[in-house]
Amino acid sequence: MKATRLAALVVLAVVAVKAGQHAKGWFAEPEGKAAAADAAPMSRIVQTDADQPYRGDLVLVDRTHPVREAGRLDDVVNLFEHPELKHGYGLMDTTVSLSKRVAEKWQVLADAARADGIRHFVINSGYRDEAAQKKLYAEKGSDYALPPGYSEHNLGLSMDVGSTTASMNAAPEGNWLSKHAWAYGFILRYPEDKTAVTGIQFEPWHFRYVGLPHSVIMHDRGWTLEEYLAALKEQHTLTALVDGVSYEVDYYTASPSGETAISVPADGAYTVSGDNDDGIIVTSSAGGEKP
Ligand SMILES: [Zn+2]
Repeated sequence: MKATRLAALVVLAVVAVKAGQHAKGWFAEPEGKAAAADAAPMSRIVQTDADQPYRGDLVLVDRTHPVREAGRLDDVVNLFEHPELKHGYGLMDTTVSLSKRVAEKWQVLADAARADGIRHFVINSGYRDEAAQKKLYAEKGSDYALPPGYSEHNLGLSMDVGSTTASMNAAPEGNWLSKHAWAYGFILRYPEDKTAVTGIQFEPWHFRYVGLPHSVIMHDRGWTLEEYLAALKEQHTLTALVDGVSYEVDYYTASPSGETAISVPADGAYTVSGDNDDGIIVTSSAGGEKP
């Protein structure tokens, strides 16, 4: 897959409403087809649970937004024990773990890189639990590590990627990732020119999964995750066309009382993520493909 997409971004209005039931969380499934196409509602309302703002692929973790228990992914696996998830790249040691879903996305990226002759990736670190983060923080100090609960690595969505040939600043692996990772749902989380926004030094090795279309929109606009979430909060709706699939991204302010009503496609695929603050983001795609 070539990383030469153009994402068309147009602001749209949010569409109508229909009665519904509780969302089942991440990757909630549509309830089924409406009886007659001409009578089908375009959207319906579901209620999120109180933890939804803290869960999902778009949660922001920084010094003021710690990882909540709901934010830790429940599909973290040890990659060393899953050879089907690590074709053509290395692992630093036998403990490297990651969300299985994110590892599958990474494998797609690694296969594409390999087709371009980039074949010396090594994952140095992925998911870190409380104890591992505590140990790292004690060893490296606050200049090079974050305290337990304040690192994206505690979610299962982030990874430190290296090359067996050179440092990521100089290696073909780092160069390829900086140019193409966004096309596969990953972002360079702490870019060199955004340290004032992220509050974190340039880390050419740290990549974070956010998924499509978000990584494409962020790439096109030159936004960090902080800037993307701020733009969504302000504009409420963004749309993007990625590889012929049109996406709509809608922002809701979470209800302080707990459940929040969100509008989702009546007959289509969607995902829901919090921003780890007071926002809930609904991403829907036309054509029934899961965002
Ligand atoms: Zn990292």
